[in-house]
Parts: sequence; structure tokens; C-alpha cells
Amino acid sequence: MSHVLNKMSGWIGWVFFLDLFDGLSLTLSYMFSRTVTMRYPDEEKWVPFPRHRGHHFLKTDETGELNCVACELCAKICPCDCITVVPYEDEKGNRRPLVFDIDLGRCLFCGLCEDACPADAIALGQHYEYSAYDTKALVVGRDALMGMPGKADRGGTVVSARLTTDDGVRVIAGAEEGYDWWRRIRRR
Ligand code: SF4
Ligand code: SF4
Repeated sequence: MSHVLNKMSGWIGWVFFLDLFDGLSLTLSYMFSRTVTMRYPDEEKWVPFPRHRGHHFLKTDETGELNCVACELCAKICPCDCITVVPYEDEKGNRRPLVFDIDLGRCLFCGLCEDACPADAIALGQHYEYSAYDTKALVVGRDALMGMPGKADRGGTVVSARLTTDDGVRVIAGAEEGYDWWRRIRRR
């Protein structure tokens, strides 16, 4: 019986173009709902959640000393073989990285290097704007990794921003507080 009813409703829907009206009503409802288009990069930018795995950064202690002890575990565990560590011994006898390069062009942002590090020295942050014309520019060295922004406490919002080309192409966030973009999306 239910099989017959299903068949009849499908047939009635086909005769009266119910699917067409269903689609048109969805289109019309979006025409009169709030916009969800992010005005990136001119006016707004997305700040990812703290769990986002973006550009790596190297952590330092309160004296500015690198946490990294150049054990090379991150390089060994990396599935893409994109980390190069060359250790040296500093004047205090501590093992430190003389060279610490990451090739972001090869990296798949799996986060294994962060998980494997025994010294809490490396992490993947929320920064995601590092495109380049040349793949050589995607090889990032120790000092640049030390200067990269770390993880913020918050994220998952859209904040006001400004596009500048004064010192390379950059999108500078104008505010810490933003709006929750996901809440603007209508769900049927
Ligand atoms: S995130 Fe994964 S692929 Fe990228 S450097 Fe770390 S271990 Fe290698
Ligand atoms: S970042 Fe961590 S795992 Fe990699 S060499 Fe330094 S201490 Fe070892």
C-alpha cells in the first residue's frame, strides 16, 4: 500500500512541477536572507579556530631562547620529508638547531611534527596567508619560524580587515572581535 502511495505522490509531484516550485522557493528565500559572502580580502578576513593547522611556528621560553633541542624527531616522523634540522652545541652546551627549515610546498599539515616534539617547540598556528610565486619562497627557516604568529585563544570568526600592499600583500585584521559566520548560514 505504501509503495502505491509513494508512486502516486511522485507522479502528482511530476504533473504539478512540485520540485521546480520547491527549488524556486529556496532560491527566493536566499534572495531575502542575510548575505554570507565574506568580503575578503578588502574588508573582512576569516580567523580560523585555534585547532586550525596552518603555518608552523617555533616556540621560545621567557628569555627568548628556542625550546627546540634539535632532536630531529619532527624531521624523522614527517611523512613528506619536508623538515631539515642541523644541530649544533651552543656556548652553554645545549643542543640547538643551527638550521631548521620547513618546506611548506611539500607539507600536508598533518600536525605529526607537533605531536612528536618532546620539547613543545613546534606547533601549527592559525596563519594561512603565505602563498608565493616561487616554491623556493615556501622554504621557511628558523628565524622566520620564530617570528610567526602563535595560536590565539579564540577563533572561528570573521573580523574587519584591511588589504595593504605596502610591505608585500597582506591582509591586516582590524579587530579582535568578529561575528560568527556559521550562524549566518540558513539551514532548511
Ligand atoms: S605538518 Fe606533517 S607534513 Fe608538515 S612538516 Fe609537520 S609532519 Fe611534516
Ligand atoms: S622541534 Fe621538537 S621534535 Fe623538532 S627538532 Fe626541535 S625539539 Fe626535536
